[in-house]
Amino acid sequence: MSEKKLPRFIMCFCTGECPGFAKLDLWKLINFVRNELDVEYAIVHPQLCVDDGDNFWRDYLREGDKDTMYIIGGCDPRMQRKMFKDAFEEKDLDFSKQVVSLDLRNMETPEAMKKVEEAVSKLVGE
Ligand code: SF4
Repeated sequence: MSEKKLPRFIMCFCTGECPGFAKLDLWKLINFVRNELDVEYAIVHPQLCVDDGDNFWRDYLREGDKDTMYIIGGCDPRMQRKMFKDAFEEKDLDFSKQVVSLDLRNMETPEAMKKVEEAVSKLVGE
């Protein structure tokens, strides 16, 4: 049996100005994820849904790499899907199979940590 690749965590922090993330300590969350959870790594992007976010996806996603899973923390999963799925399709990837979108808005840091932890456990424990 081949060993499962660890998921990557990408946190979209909505410029850092969005009231939805006012209660979230970004660095506490990201350090928890990268140090304590079974992820390949964790990164932060300031605003994935605008042009430089598109540029990031284009540069970052690897063509046809269907084995890598992404957990994306940010806004509503339906919004994430709408905004990111084309970037995945352009690289012959499947957003619905390779992405777990987490809405982490309006949460205190411990609650967000727990939500990410559960998503990682679900993926890695499968
Ligand atoms: S993708 Fe969502 S969380 Fe990220 S900047 Fe856009 S609206 Fe905010």
